[in-house]
Amino acid sequence: MHLLNADLHCHSTASDGSLSPTALAQRAHEGGVQLWSLTDHDELAGQREAREAAEALGIAYVSGVEISVSFAGETVHILGFGFDPDHPALVAGLAGLRAGRITRAQEMGESLAKAGIPGAYEGALALAPNPELVSRTHFARFLVEHGHCSSVHEVFTRFLKEGKPGFVPHRWAGLGDALRWVHGAGGVTAIAHPARYRFSPTVEFALFGEFQAHGGRGVEVTCGSHFPDEVAKYADMALEFDLLASRGSDFHAPDESRVPLGSLPDLPGKVEPLWSVWADTLAGRQAPRAGQPGALAADAAVS
Ligand code: AMP
Ligand code: MN
Ligand code: MN
Ligand code: MN
Repeated sequence: MHLLNADLHCHSTASDGSLSPTALAQRAHEGGVQLWSLTDHDELAGQREAREAAEALGIAYVSGVEISVSFAGETVHILGFGFDPDHPALVAGLAGLRAGRITRAQEMGESLAKAGIPGAYEGALALAPNPELVSRTHFARFLVEHGHCSSVHEVFTRFLKEGKPGFVPHRWAGLGDALRWVHGAGGVTAIAHPARYRFSPTVEFALFGEFQAHGGRGVEVTCGSHFPDEVAKYADMALEFDLLASRGSDFHAPDESRVPLGSLPDLPGKVEPLWSVWADTLAGRQAPRAGQPGALAADAAVS
């Protein structure tokens, strides 16, 4: 199972990525991805196209989403996989989450205007193909396009995060709600990019404990925003909390993302991959090693 090149985290134009699901599938194929999931923020609109494009290229596909959650005063991202994308409680829960984004974006625009940057709300909205998913990423791209910063990365050091102009606190889903939506729709969940949160060890322990108590199964161990020491730390945490390990690039855009689809290192050998939960469906898709082409049948996709 380790030998499967799985990339279970990326974003399309249905949220804050710059490529369509079809274009992402093509890049996944070029990157040697054998098991793929599109995980747009709080949105399932890209799922059908992603699955169809993946299957046409012979890539196994699992449905995916990245849910914004508020936990201990921070935003935490929870990945959901392998659920029924038409499940009513999941669909309704995500719609409720999206509804708050426009008001938040208006307030972000007002905050930036006070800091001497006018027109950011309208500008961000114009860059968001899905207006319900207007996000800080679209504000960041607007600030770069208008010469306020030279890169999206620079925007996030000077603006849009707590204590900086453009930051507006927001209440996202509760952890238990997000997990219930995904589990109720037949899926599994994983804590996304755990090293990104600024929790004390005690609060981090509480997050992992509550997540597991609610039936959460996985944690992203190898991902686009983890340094090697963080991969090692969260591999240990996965073992400590009896969680499965996930791997995902978190690819957003060719000129913004450090890691192309499918090019991350393999998971550390000591963890159990998250995709072992789909072992029966994936049987026969084992190996070739990451980066090597094909040899997979286009049937047997997982839901
Ligand atoms: P939002 O859901 O509107 O709060 O936007 C969150 C998104 O902003 C994340 O999913 C990332 O795509 C992006 N983001 C957050 N922090 C950074 C950062 N330091 N550098 C680049 N992008 C970031
Ligand atoms: Mn994003
Ligand atoms: Mn995230
Ligand atoms: Mn992401």
